[in-house]
Amino acid sequence: MTPTTPGKPGRAVDEEFFKQVLGRQKSLIVDRTNQFGSTGLPSAEQLAQSVAFAPQDGSIWLCGQRMMLLQGSAFGAIRRELIEALGLDKARGLLTRIGWQAGARDAAQVSEQWPEGDHASLYSAGPRLHMLEGMVNVEVVRFEIDSSVGHFYSEFLWHNSLEVDEHIAAYGLGGEPACWMEIGYASGYASSLLGRLVVFRELQCRAMGHPACRIVGKPAEQWDDIDVDLAYLDPGDFLSRSTYTSAVDKRVAELEVPTDAKQLVGISASFVAASQLLQRVAPTEATVLLTGESGVGKELFAHTVHQASRRQHIPMVALNCATLPENLVEAELFGVERGAFTGAERSRPGRFERAHGGTLFLDEIGTLSLHAQSKILRALQEGEIERVGGTSAIQVDVRVIAATNLDLRKEVEAGRFREDLFYRLNVFPIHLPPLRERREDIPLLMSYFLHRFSQRHGRQLAGFSMRLVNALLTYRFPGNIRELQNLIERGVIAASDGEVIDVVHLAEAGAPLMEAAIGLTGEGRLAVDAVTPKVRAAAPDTEAESDQAQASAPELASLQAFFAGQERVLGTSLEDIEKRLVRLALERSGGNVTAAAQMLGMSRAQVSYRLKGG
Ligand SMILES: [Zn+2]
Repeated sequence: MTPTTPGKPGRAVDEEFFKQVLGRQKSLIVDRTNQFGSTGLPSAEQLAQSVAFAPQDGSIWLCGQRMMLLQGSAFGAIRRELIEALGLDKARGLLTRIGWQAGARDAAQVSEQWPEGDHASLYSAGPRLHMLEGMVNVEVVRFEIDSSVGHFYSEFLWHNSLEVDEHIAAYGLGGEPACWMEIGYASGYASSLLGRLVVFRELQCRAMGHPACRIVGKPAEQWDDIDVDLAYLDPGDFLSRSTYTSAVDKRVAELEVPTDAKQLVGISASFVAASQLLQRVAPTEATVLLTGESGVGKELFAHTVHQASRRQHIPMVALNCATLPENLVEAELFGVERGAFTGAERSRPGRFERAHGGTLFLDEIGTLSLHAQSKILRALQEGEIERVGGTSAIQVDVRVIAATNLDLRKEVEAGRFREDLFYRLNVFPIHLPPLRERREDIPLLMSYFLHRFSQRHGRQLAGFSMRLVNALLTYRFPGNIRELQNLIERGVIAASDGEVIDVVHLAEAGAPLMEAAIGLTGEGRLAVDAVTPKVRAAAPDTEAESDQAQASAPELASLQAFFAGQERVLGTSLEDIEKRLVRLALERSGGNVTAAAQMLGMSRAQVSYRLKGG
């Protein structure tokens, strides 16, 4: 529908699009960093074709996501009930976050499906999807993006907003903007795509009597009073001051949210669910079991539970059970009486005694010996412990928060974990999702860590390059939030002031992301700016493997130098890079051509052809 005009490669596609689909053209889309020209991917037509109705199975699809059709009036009724039940501010927050999640999901979906799309084109898919989904009619007033200096400015007119129609029908005109879900969508989409917090504000709204809604989007740090916008994005605000009045909620409501709770960053459904459980259990005396992979933030959650509890005035005592040799764990947990063993020259209290009146956090509890487990069970049941070599019981009042990355049920079945202790701990389990299952949170976390480490290291950076954003949004994160945090800290240290953090800054520090900087598209074409999921799945998990792969791949080193601007000429041919990837995949598949083709997202025939040719 919008073919590239000969002689005007690339960018013409976007101009055409905005003229024909979005209305009057008022300014060019500029991405000065885009050396490869604007790809125009995905086109408006491609997006429209990604909608599929399958009434025979009762499903509708858009860009690979299941959708639903809901009457505008039914949405209006839900919105009205929310406002009446929660009050205007909380309902606005809730709808803003729902919009954010929808926008963030669409952005992730679009960048995954069109890995060869450039920044400006992928961004322009946002308003198109917003229109396709039936929420607003978007007219572009101004749109500027320059990822080399982290510049982003976006101004739209929204016509025909569904949310405004419903708002006016229920409440008439007023003094406040009403496109809450839409603002959330725009902010979520842009933030996800750019990997930094971008906030949209509605400066005029049809609900206030203006002829159209005028909205402006800028990076968060360029707005004044950003806390007002962030308040609508912060689920903690909603959870801690819930108007529901069950007994537990009332106690939650009385508690001030501790400042550290701000460190729990996230807006995804799975994160919000975990935070909600946390807020519920924190003020009680219940034992809490935190489960999840390593690096998901279990200790931070434990701290937050402690700080939101009545025991907050006594410092939390923590012990990682896996870091101590088995013969020392018991002495550490329960203390020692003088002469209990060689070297025990004086009596000393253990962690249980030191946590008396407070909270004890036992990380990696699944690694404890059965003997230590039985003593913990006794401490939980009877409220007493015995020091190693001691003869008398000592009373302790301790709330235990335990954490594990093991499946304790399986450990029980295997006879390695006491069943009675498992049930004692499992009173209130909270599962913390791995980062790859809460990708909507990655931009928020990136922004948060960038801010934190820039302050710590005294840096003023311009943000992230698109290549890095793409790599991070699609990376598996075996090390979860801890890994993301380390990557961003490295980037903050390696990049210079005024510069954007790029993959190359992390690669210099040995980050395992370099593989993500090159990949093949689904059609088997080489895409230098992105990587398909199939290739990523085959990427090495450890830094050592990644370093090895790089050392044995001079083509990658050339590519890296070219990207980093250290070389003006790409010192290798694209053909060599393709061959290199095919060889690599064959090595990893043990010579199995079909498996290698799957790794590369190519057909078996394409791989065979390249083998013959090379
Ligand atoms: Zn509006």
